[in-house]
Amino acid sequence: MRKLIEQLKDIELAIFDLDGVIYRGEKLISGNDKVITALKELGVKVVYNSNNSTVTRQMYVDRLKGFNIKSDILDFYTSASITASEITKVKQNAKIFVIGEIGLKEELKSCGHEVVNAESNHKVVDFVIVGLDRELTYVKLAFAQRCILEGSAKFYATNADATLPVATGLLPGAGVMVNAVETCTDQKPVKIFGKPNPEGIQSILENTNSNPSRSFIFGDRLNTDILAGNRAGINTVLVLTGVTKASDVEKLWGDKDCSPEAEIGLIPNIVINSLKEIFLP
Ligand SMILES: [Mg+2]
Repeated sequence: MRKLIEQLKDIELAIFDLDGVIYRGEKLISGNDKVITALKELGVKVVYNSNNSTVTRQMYVDRLKGFNIKSDILDFYTSASITASEITKVKQNAKIFVIGEIGLKEELKSCGHEVVNAESNHKVVDFVIVGLDRELTYVKLAFAQRCILEGSAKFYATNADATLPVATGLLPGAGVMVNAVETCTDQKPVKIFGKPNPEGIQSILENTNSNPSRSFIFGDRLNTDILAGNRAGINTVLVLTGVTKASDVEKLWGDKDCSPEAEIGLIPNIVINSLKEIFLP
């Protein structure tokens, strides 16, 4: 059995961000299938936590299967699934207008909510929920605005990532859609459910019955993955296979204890070049 590096020797729960950590775009980051298998052999609980709301959890199971990684639908906590379970605590069987894609819509429907379209009566809409929508239109924005300003809908968002990393570089992220609704309603979302909000990680800790001091999040983004992990009081590991580069980290390390980044919670406990480095050679 492979041995973990010293800083990870007590690990009980591993929470992996997906894009930029397990895979990049459509491609597995080399060796990560073996890393996950070896961790599970050591008895470590493995779950996945992504801010991408466009994909259903079943689609993630299928995607990982294609990379030779076995998983279960309940191993995934996406900003869409977290939003669906949290909004259900606010109101059951709600009427919801979604600026977003299939992942968010399906998760909301599976919690018993009705997803309405832009031709519906705006007065009956309880919530406008905004996530990444690659088919955003003026009609959708206008209906969201109407539900919030002329109806009584409350405005929520899945996440506010500025960018969406793809194989060829960067595309606009969900934050762009959230800002559009903010601008035309002059309202901020009541809540943004995805990272860096720590509640997703807190529910993972609860559901898996894990000790925060023995739990680790592995992420590639400082202002979502690492910030959420630090806020939730677990260990944070920055993996340099995604959006954050080694040169970004040097800046952080400048004056580690009194830097503004440390105060905000952007500094990871551990930095590794790729997930393979969690095992001793
Ligand atoms: Mg990522």
